Amino acid sequence: MNMAETKEQYDQLVERLLALSVAYYDNDAPLVSDFEYDRMNNELKRLEADHPDWIRPDSPTQHVGGHVSEAFAPVEHEVPLESLADVFSFEEVSGFVSRMDGAVAAAHDYVTEPKIDGLSVAVEYRDGVLYRGATRGNGQMGEDVTENLRTIRSLPKTLHNAPRRIIVRGEVYMSHETFTTINARREIEGQPPLANPRNAAAGSLRQQDPKVCAQRMLDIILFNIQLAEGVTYTTHYETLEAMADMGLPVVPHTLCKTPEDCVRTIQAIGEGRETYPYDIDGAVVKLNDLSQREDLGSTAKYPRWAVAYKYPPEKKPSRVVDILVQVGRTGVLTPKAVIEPIRLAGTTVTNATLHNQDFIDNLGVNIGDTVLVQKAGEIIPEVLEVTEKRSDAPFRLPGTCPVCGAPVERDPDGAAMRCTGAECPAQRLRNIVHFASREAMDIDGLGPAVVEALDRQGLIHTPAELYYLDVQSVATADRMGLKSAENLIAAIEESKTRGLARLLCAFGIRQVGAKAARVLARHYPDLDTLMAATAEELTVIDDVGPITAGYLTEWFASDQSRHQIELLRRAGVSFQSAEELADTRFAGKTFVLTGTLEHLTRQEAEALIERYGGKASGSVSKKTSYVLAGADPGSKLTKAQSLGIEIITEEQFRAMLEPQE
Ligand code: NAD
Repeated sequence: MNMAETKEQYDQLVERLLALSVAYYDNDAPLVSDFEYDRMNNELKRLEADHPDWIRPDSPTQHVGGHVSEAFAPVEHEVPLESLADVFSFEEVSGFVSRMDGAVAAAHDYVTEPKIDGLSVAVEYRDGVLYRGATRGNGQMGEDVTENLRTIRSLPKTLHNAPRRIIVRGEVYMSHETFTTINARREIEGQPPLANPRNAAAGSLRQQDPKVCAQRMLDIILFNIQLAEGVTYTTHYETLEAMADMGLPVVPHTLCKTPEDCVRTIQAIGEGRETYPYDIDGAVVKLNDLSQREDLGSTAKYPRWAVAYKYPPEKKPSRVVDILVQVGRTGVLTPKAVIEPIRLAGTTVTNATLHNQDFIDNLGVNIGDTVLVQKAGEIIPEVLEVTEKRSDAPFRLPGTCPVCGAPVERDPDGAAMRCTGAECPAQRLRNIVHFASREAMDIDGLGPAVVEALDRQGLIHTPAELYYLDVQSVATADRMGLKSAENLIAAIEESKTRGLARLLCAFGIRQVGAKAARVLARHYPDLDTLMAATAEELTVIDDVGPITAGYLTEWFASDQSRHQIELLRRAGVSFQSAEELADTRFAGKTFVLTGTLEHLTRQEAEALIERYGGKASGSVSKKTSYVLAGADPGSKLTKAQSLGIEIITEEQFRAMLEPQE
C-alpha cells in the first residue's frame, strides 16, 4: 500500500469512527459491537503512532465522544468528565504501572475497580440534598438530566454528613434482572427487544419524560469525587470510603501495591463477571494518591494516572441440542443452533446464529456437537468452532421449506437458500409485519405479536386485508380489548395517506428498501404509471440497476400482487407520490456532509436531500455541488476548498429548505 492510500485509509477510518460514535453516544443505537469499534479504534491509533503529522483535531483519539443534545439544558462541568486510556493485555497494564513507578518518585499504590458498562454522569449535592445531575456529553458540557436521575431508586436524594457542596461521578446502568424483565414484557407487547443493557440505560436516561425513565428502573454506582467544598482528601481509596459513609452506592475497590497485584485483581474481577448485577466491560487501575494524580495531569482525552483494561469477548462451550431453520420475510432460510443455556457477558444465551449452509460446512457442525460460543458486545452470539464432534457430517438445510413445504433454492449470486413458495405462511406474516413497520406504512401498534394474534383468529392473510378489518372483529383477537382495537383501526386508517414511497417500501419487493422506494417515487407520480414502466425504462433512473428493475417488473406482473394492489385501491390507499416528493428543488445536485450538524443528524440531513431530489455522497469530487459543513469538519472541507466547491453552513442548508413560492 502506498502512502497516499494509507492517508486516504486513515481519513476514511476517522470518518467511519465519527459516524459510529454519533450512533452510539448521541442516538444510543450502536451500529457495530464495541469489540468491532475497539478494533477499528486500535487500527486508528496504530496509524496515528506511525504518522503523527496526520492526526486530525476531530480524530476520535483527540476528544471525548458524545455531544450535548438540544433537548436538554446544557450543564458546564466544573471538573471535566474525562474518558480512560484503554489497554487489551496484562503486559500493557504492567507497562502502565512501570511508567507510573518512573513518573512518581514517592511511595505509591493503586486502586483497581470493575469498569461498569453504562452511562457516565456527574451528580451535585448542595447541603446534602440532590441538586443537579448531568450526562458526560462532550466531557466539558453535559445534558441536565436531574429529573430523570431523581427516578433512580439507588441514588440517594439526601446524604449524611456531606460537604456543603459535593459533585460525584458515577455510572448509570440497567441491571441484568431489569433488562431481562423489560425485554420479556416487550416481547409480549410485540415491541423489538432492547439491544443491550448499556444502550438501554443511555436511551432511558436521555428520555424527555421522567415517567418513561422511571419505568426503566435504572441504577447507579459512584466511583469518583469530582469536587468537595471545604474537605481535603489525600487518596482515592479514602474518597470511596467517604462516599459510602455519606450513603452513596460505591464501586467495589481493591488496594493494590504491585503490578502483579493489579493484574491478579483484574483477573479476579474478570472471573467473577457473572456475579455482578451489571455489565462490566473492563477493570480500571488508578493511582491512589490524589496529589500525585494532580502532578501527572491529563491528555486532551484521558487522565495519565489511570488505565482501563478491556476484557476480551467471553467465549464458552455448550452443546448443540437442536438446529432450527427459520424462514425470513424474503424467504431466506436461516439456521440457528439451540444450545444448552450458558451465561455469557451477563446474559443467558440459549441460541447462536449459524448464518447459512456455507458457515455450517466450514465449521462442520451438527446436532449433538460441543461448540465454542462467543458474544462480542451486542451482536448476536455466534458459534466459533466445534470442540467435540458427535456426528461425521455437517447439518444440511432442508431441500423444502420447513413452513410451507415448497422447494428451496440457493441464490445464484450468494450463499442464501430461499423458499420458492409464494404463499409461504412464514413469509406471509413477516410480510404483514414489514408492511406495517416504521419505515413502511408506519401503523402504530401492529407488531409481530398483534399480527400473529390477528392471524390466529383468521382475520388477515395479506397486508391489503388490514384495510378491511373492523373494530368488533379485531377486539376478538388475543390480548386485544375494545380500546386497543379502536386504536389499531385508527392507525390503519391513518396509514392510507402515506404516499407512494412508503407503499413501495411496504410491498417488500427484493432490493426495494426505503431508499430505492423514495428514488422511484420521485420519478413516477403514482403507482399506475410506475407499473406501466418496462424494465428498460426503469434502469434509466440513476440508482436502479437491471437486477432491481427485474425484481420490480416481475413483482408487478404477478397475479397475486395485482390482486393486492386492487384491494388497496378499493380501500382508498393513496397511490400518489406525496406532495413533498413532487418538489425536486435539489434535482441534479450532489451534497457531501462533513462534521457534526447542530440541529440535524447525518441521516436526517441525507433524507432531506434525497426527499427533494438531490443526492448525498460520501466523497468530494468535481461533481459535488455543495459541501455541507458542521462543527469539526474533516478533510472533505479542505478538499472542497481546493476544488473551489461551494461550502454551506447548516443555517444556509436550512434556508434552502424553506417553502418555495
Ligand atoms: P470508556 O467507556 O472505554 O471509558 C470511560 C468511561 O468508563 C467513563 O466515562 C466512565 O464513566 C466509565 N467507568 C465505568 N466504571 C468506571 C470506574 N470504575 N472508574 C472510572 N470510570 C469508569 O470510554 P469512552 O471514551 O466513553 O468510550 C469508548 C467505549 O465506547 C469503547 O468501549 C467503545 O467500544 C465504545 N463505543 C462503541 C461504539 C460502537 O459503535 N459500538 C461507538 C463508540 C464508542
